[in-house]
Amino acid sequence: MSRWAEETLYDDCKFCLKLEKLLYERSSEHQSLLVAENLSFGRVLYLDGVLQTTEADEFIYHEMMAHVPILAHGRAESVLIIGGGDGGMLREVLKHQTIDRVVQVEIDPDVIAFCREHLPNHSQGSFDDPRLELVIADGKDYLDDCGERFDIVIIDSTDPIGPGEALFTPDFYQACKTALDEDGILVTQNGVPFLQPEELRNTMRAFRALFQDASCYLAAVPTYIGGAMAFGWGSDRPEPRQTSLDVLKARYRDAGLELRYLNPEVHQASFALPTFVRELVEG
Ligand code: SAM
Repeated sequence: MSRWAEETLYDDCKFCLKLEKLLYERSSEHQSLLVAENLSFGRVLYLDGVLQTTEADEFIYHEMMAHVPILAHGRAESVLIIGGGDGGMLREVLKHQTIDRVVQVEIDPDVIAFCREHLPNHSQGSFDDPRLELVIADGKDYLDDCGERFDIVIIDSTDPIGPGEALFTPDFYQACKTALDEDGILVTQNGVPFLQPEELRNTMRAFRALFQDASCYLAAVPTYIGGAMAFGWGSDRPEPRQTSLDVLKARYRDAGLELRYLNPEVHQASFALPTFVRELVEG
């Protein structure tokens, strides 16, 4: 008989998926892991009872977090990914031939191992790319000792519960800024503002204290219920967020990416914020 998975993220609303087939379920040193199949979403990954990613709609999340900062920056060569153990972010970042160095810092080696086996469409072999340095560590500890600087830092974290909690603090964002080149860009997964307004408000408060340009951009990912989700954006250069459509068109064309969600128009429009989101960003 099929089993239903009830997400445990919210106290008063639940997104349930019917699990047709359970592929993997156990606990690692850091969290509980579950991969199963659903008819509409394909293979789905839960960590500590929270839905992380699904085969059907992961392209929206990963394209938005990888290509928007890289193509807004315009000459990025190095990327730091914190989290992202399923490998989808790495896959998208490595599509850029201009990126010659990627460091990925993931706390839980079990997530990488079992996603390589049970969610192989996410990483598609990218963990074997010679441009990658994979570090198994807490992202916060890594940054505290990191002497290197990157053009782009991507925080592909779980929600601020369990091991992911440390990745939502002002100290952590300060450490991210220290690891950025002076014209670098930090992007963070910041949940769904309609259901998690404080998550965005707190991150934006910290970003405003650190960056000349602090804002967020949006995309609706069906897996993350409650409307559009927010990606935090921090940079000391205001220009990347205001890149003109003509320049974006040229950059997308030159990058030669085959994308399913993003295009120059969607890229530019993703920075337009509804009023209730703008209020969270501003205070
Ligand atoms: N797309 C997902 C979402 O929106 O929730 C995120 C997916 S990805 C699987 C999140 C990864 O962050 C997990 O692999 C988890 O192990 C990792 N992670 C959590 N806390 C971390 C930390 N403190 N340092 C490094 N990685 C961490």
